[in-house]
Amino acid sequence: MLAERAYAKVNLTLDVNFKRPDGYHDIDMVMQTIDLSDLIWLEEISGGGIKIESNVSYLPLDKRNLAYAATEVFRQETGITTGVRIRIDKQIPVAAGLGGGSADAAAVLRGLNKLWKTGLSTDNLAEMGASVGSDVPFLVYEGCGVATGRGEQVRLVRHPTKAWIVLVRPTVFVSTAAIYGACESFQTRLEPSSKAMVEALKQGDLDRTAGLISNDLTPVAERLYPEIAEMRERLEGVTRSTVYMSGSGPTLFCLAPNETVAHRYYNAINGFAKEVYLSRFI
Ligand code: ATP
Repeated sequence: MLAERAYAKVNLTLDVNFKRPDGYHDIDMVMQTIDLSDLIWLEEISGGGIKIESNVSYLPLDKRNLAYAATEVFRQETGITTGVRIRIDKQIPVAAGLGGGSADAAAVLRGLNKLWKTGLSTDNLAEMGASVGSDVPFLVYEGCGVATGRGEQVRLVRHPTKAWIVLVRPTVFVSTAAIYGACESFQTRLEPSSKAMVEALKQGDLDRTAGLISNDLTPVAERLYPEIAEMRERLEGVTRSTVYMSGSGPTLFCLAPNETVAHRYYNAINGFAKEVYLSRFI
């Protein structure tokens, strides 16, 4: 039995540039993994099947689970037909804009490469991940990266910036497809938001990093789901700090320079928000 951690991501920038002829949006975003994670257990079984189990009842356990899809792609690409049981211990909130399903798929690809000693490079695994989902390649690498195209083209960024992060998942169900579908106007920029963000991160400048966080999907999501805007305003009131949305939401977050400040935010929020998480960049 082998265990692999699947770390969640937050978006530090997310530019939506235009709608492509294939229906996807061309995006440019900085993603950062945080230490909120699922634990994925992998074990060979006889019979050649793919069996997914989880500690939570609301995940699909068939082909619709991204861990299943990743296993199928891995077996197709390597020609391996051995069966596998995958247990997903879920901690990352689901459908939250934190890439939970994609992180599980990425961890499955890394884990199967170890379990079956296939010796594939991380680049190979990331390439496989692109056919499972746009965020999977970045989550195969982890850390920090600029993702472009549909999000599947990844340039890794090494930086020294350390941050604590307090996350709140508002109790509203959002549809990623509806949010992208409602994206009608696109900003013209001289350069992508990721450029200045990467510079700030490389300088280890947390204040500048926080000041540069942006997400083109925030106004769209807040228009479709006013609960997100209400929660963001309440959070900004109690923390007296700017609060941002990750991905297509609804998870909101703010950064803190140290554990003491992070705990202060956490305690202030914990009174009225149900799902609050304290985490760190990793
Ligand atoms: P995205 O921004 O890519 O939509 P997300 O972080 O908002 O991702 P996920 O937690 O990945 O959302 O879940 C999105 C959907 O994917 C859910 O409806 C869920 O049922 C499905 N799903 C499939 N496999 C998984 C998995 N292993 N973990 C979580 N959700 C999964």
